[in-house]
Amino acid sequence: MNAPVLVTLFALPLILFPATQSDETQWEQRARAIPDTTRIRADVEHLSAVPHLAGTPGSKQAADWILAQLREYGLDAKIETFEALLPTPQTRILEMTAPTQFKAKLQEPAVSIDPSTSNPDIIPPYNAYSGDGDVTAPLVYANYGLPADYDTLKEKGIDVRGKIVIVRYGGSFRGVKPRVAYEHGAVGCIIYSDPRDDGYFQGDGFPKGPYRPADGVQRGSVLDLGVQPGDPLSPGWASEPGSKRLALAEATTIQQIPVLPISYADATPLLSALDGPVAPEAWRGALPFTYHLGPAAMVHLKVTMNNATRPLYNVIARIPGSEFPDEWVLYGNHHDAWVDGADDPISSAGPLLESARALAELSRQGWKPKRTILFAFWDAEEFGLIGSTEWMEKHSDELNRKLAVYINADTSGKGVLDAGGSPALEDTVREIARDVKDPVSGKSVLDTYLAKVAKNAPTKPAEFHLSPLGSGSDFTPFLQHLGVASLNLGFETESGGGVYHSAYDDFYWYSHFEDTDFIYGRALAQLNATILMRLADAPVLPFTFSQFATSVTTYLDEIARLGNAKTGNATKLNLDAVRHANTQVAQAAAELAKAYARAQGKLSTARPAQLTAINRLFIDSERDLTLDPGLPGRPWYRHRIYAPGRYTGYAVKTLPGIREALEANKQEEAAEQAKQVAQVLQTLAAHLNQAAKLLGKL
Ligand SMILES: [Zn+2]
Repeated sequence: MNAPVLVTLFALPLILFPATQSDETQWEQRARAIPDTTRIRADVEHLSAVPHLAGTPGSKQAADWILAQLREYGLDAKIETFEALLPTPQTRILEMTAPTQFKAKLQEPAVSIDPSTSNPDIIPPYNAYSGDGDVTAPLVYANYGLPADYDTLKEKGIDVRGKIVIVRYGGSFRGVKPRVAYEHGAVGCIIYSDPRDDGYFQGDGFPKGPYRPADGVQRGSVLDLGVQPGDPLSPGWASEPGSKRLALAEATTIQQIPVLPISYADATPLLSALDGPVAPEAWRGALPFTYHLGPAAMVHLKVTMNNATRPLYNVIARIPGSEFPDEWVLYGNHHDAWVDGADDPISSAGPLLESARALAELSRQGWKPKRTILFAFWDAEEFGLIGSTEWMEKHSDELNRKLAVYINADTSGKGVLDAGGSPALEDTVREIARDVKDPVSGKSVLDTYLAKVAKNAPTKPAEFHLSPLGSGSDFTPFLQHLGVASLNLGFETESGGGVYHSAYDDFYWYSHFEDTDFIYGRALAQLNATILMRLADAPVLPFTFSQFATSVTTYLDEIARLGNAKTGNATKLNLDAVRHANTQVAQAAAELAKAYARAQGKLSTARPAQLTAINRLFIDSERDLTLDPGLPGRPWYRHRIYAPGRYTGYAVKTLPGIREALEANKQEEAAEQAKQVAQVLQTLAAHLNQAAKLLGKL
């Protein structure tokens, strides 16, 4: 979560449905009564019963089953097929040849109490988009494998050129680790889960507890997501059967060196064989020996991939809008998983099915959404947001015109709402979180959230805020490429990610250790069904903009301090123009809020064309924040306010163009990026002023 912003400027109460409010409220209540824990449990159990990795028959079966469910609910649904490079492992060898002999197991043993862990279709642990390679070299421990870790190694006199590095999971998206290793001259990269971050240091390992057991391995893609997600052989266009494809050697988002993920059982002999300097204190994990940096042990690493292009299956359903059919609201969740994926992603795909069933049922009872509602179950998210990205690329012209909001879910636990997204949607999500019951406390989901905020920061006023979105799930193509206002919603996971991307993320684990009676799954279905309804039915899209300007002020203050930290002086970068443009946004947002409040009584009688003109400006408000070409070195990322960090991967960088230029001490680039941010803010301010004027004319 970002630092809470304390002052909400110009906030006015939102009254969304003056004339039809009670009707709408009644429909929403009816929708929330439909999602059912027994059904969610059954859906999660069915979809996580067997492995369903993208590109395998299991994934096709999952897509077909979801399609059948949606049609049974009465929805208009279809499968859209794409294809992509979806590598599977061919050879995986990791052995130590000196000072002692050791051969890594590279397997996750079955657990007798949980029969699905013995399924022969479980893909062995690997990192998709690893380079092929067969290397024997000394081993060096490089902590999390972040750029700063290599600076530390250099200070200690350790050169990783020609070496194999072993790094631990955490601190960055895994795809960043082998790329940074390669940039520093390493010839191979081993990524392991240290029990300090992910294992017995946190709590009991599976099956006694929910945490990562000694042999548990985190699979995962090492696609260079910070440059661009999607199929690496069709960057920028939809990869359909017969479409143009790059040769493997031309792909820029796959790794150059072999990469392999391992368990802490396999990492222990390797790390304990290292000598050389003792690792800095912050680098030490929870394994029972003194951590050294190396180089010492000789290690042989061989990885080859079966680089096949395979089909993937997105399932799309729709409820057509009655008044504004060309304004769309889309709710998506991926269906593919590394293994059974009861937690990631089925724990939130089950609730999505229930949201869809609720709205289908409501349609039968006579409810007609004003806007078109779409449901999407994406394939191949785990390989690099591929199903959603290829679909976005295929439909980009239409989505650019029509898609008002994208709502994402991907993995959900229990307890406290975990909400990220565009500030324009913050007021709406807050209101709806107040309308949905927390199934344990009986108070609202919002109350539970605020109680946690108050507990964590007792001296500050407890407020609800959406955290800014980085990457790591399917909102990225919509938010950061197209510029569509987006949300990512779920309940927090309490297990520390103990079985994340392992064979132990299955129905047994989820139903014993997470949302065991699926009551938070039901709350998620209720929350997202309500959000869809309110977004689909409000005469004017319920977007508000004062929080956005407040957030940008916070980001600018952070950047000013970042300059201080780098140079010891105030940054030379002049941010006046950006601050001025942001003040214009704040003023326009305030005018708009007043105009919106004044227009409340007139919305239900306004002509559709008048409302369409206002909604067009609202839909464009997030597009306004994008600019071509995108960020330096990664033009696919067009959003000027939010991007995943180039060297962090999943974690967000706000005002990424300015921030990353300053971090790299590129002053001219930072100044150019600041100019571009000022430009997008001016465009937004102008559109908000225009919207206020149109509201005034109603
Ligand atoms: Zn996921």
